[in-house]
This record gives sequence, C-alpha cells and structure tokens, in this order.
Amino acid sequence: MNIILFGPPGAGKGTQAKFLVKKINGFQISTGNMLRDEIQKNSEIGKKIINDMNDGKFVSDQIVNNLIEKITLDTSKKNKLIFDGYPRSLSQAKNLELLMNNSNQKIDFIFFLNVNKETIIKRIEKRKVLEKRTDDDLSTILKRYDTYMETTKPVLDFYSKNPNFYEIDGSHKIEDITAKIEAFIKF
Ligand code: AMP
Repeated sequence: MNIILFGPPGAGKGTQAKFLVKKINGFQISTGNMLRDEIQKNSEIGKKIINDMNDGKFVSDQIVNNLIEKITLDTSKKNKLIFDGYPRSLSQAKNLELLMNNSNQKIDFIFFLNVNKETIIKRIEKRKVLEKRTDDDLSTILKRYDTYMETTKPVLDFYSKNPNFYEIDGSHKIEDITAKIEAFIKF
C-alpha cells in the first residue's frame, strides 16, 4: 500500500506518517527531511538548495523528483511508501504518476489534512522550540504557508477528482485524525 499525506506545513503530516510507518511497516518519504539531510551533509544538492529552503521557497522540481525516483526504484520499499510533503506541485504529482507506473506501483490513498493558518502558526511555533529547525521562524512559516497554498491548488484539484482522495479536518487532535485515517483505510 502506498499513501500520500497532503497538506500545508504544520498540518500534522509527519506525525501521521510515523503512525502509518508502524502500522504498515512502511517508509516515511519526507522530502523536507531528505533535503535537510543534503544541507547537513553539505553535498552539491545541499549547496544548491540552502538559500531557497531558508527562504521558505520550494526547491526545484527536478532536484526533488530525482530524489523520489531513487526511492520508487528501491525494491525493498516497494508498496510501503508513505509520502510526506511530496508531491507539492502539479509537475511533481504528474511525475509521481509516471514513477509509480514505471515501478509497477500505484497510490492507494491520498489524505488531505486541511488546516487553517492560525492553527498552523501555533503548531509550528511549538515545533520550533521542540526540534530547533532553522527554517521555522515566523516569517518563514508564513512564507511557506503562502507558497504552499499558491502552488498546491492545482495539485489539490488534480487529486480531488481521484476516488482514493479523502479530506480530513487537520485541526482536530492527533488521535482523532489517526482514527479517521484508520477508518478510511479499514485496518
Ligand atoms: P517540510 O519539512 O515538508 O515542511 O519541507 C521543508 C522545506 O523543504 C520546504 O519549505 C521546501 O523549501 C522544501 N521542500 C520539501 N518538500 C518539497 C517538495 N516536494 N518540493 C519542493 N520543495 C520541497
């Protein structure tokens, strides 16, 4: 089973991804974490993306798509993918379809965790204290939210036509969101 968790930064995708990883013995595919790793390693990719990341801007589709392609070709992760933060643009969504077809896989569930700006600001402020993420200052948070909303509208339109698309109110408690996801998957 492959699952997409979709929603603005701070919607709780990471938290729900961790639950799903345990539940299906899967792998959390967080492009945000993968990109932060590249920065930490000071790799060629890391050097290219550091400014955009710190500015709250999206990293180029090409860089992110390449990282994801490797994962979809990894047979040990086949049909155990929990996408957290990808796809985020229409080009990424179309690329993912292609990569799924090429690796003989499909997306079984798309969960859209929908949350308003106020809830997200509160949550990210809390996470900033707990995890000390450098891209988490308030102006960056707002930029990330706005970028997300502008860029992901076409992705939302693209997926909302899909019969496996489920919208969940992400402002609820973590356990309630988890319960809704469980109910949709029928674990
Ligand atoms: P996240 O941890 O998912 O909130 O992502 C943190 C930052 O990484 C974002 O603000 C973007 O700069 C970058 N990023 C993560 N995923 C993507 C993606 N799918 N496409 C483009 N940029 C991304």
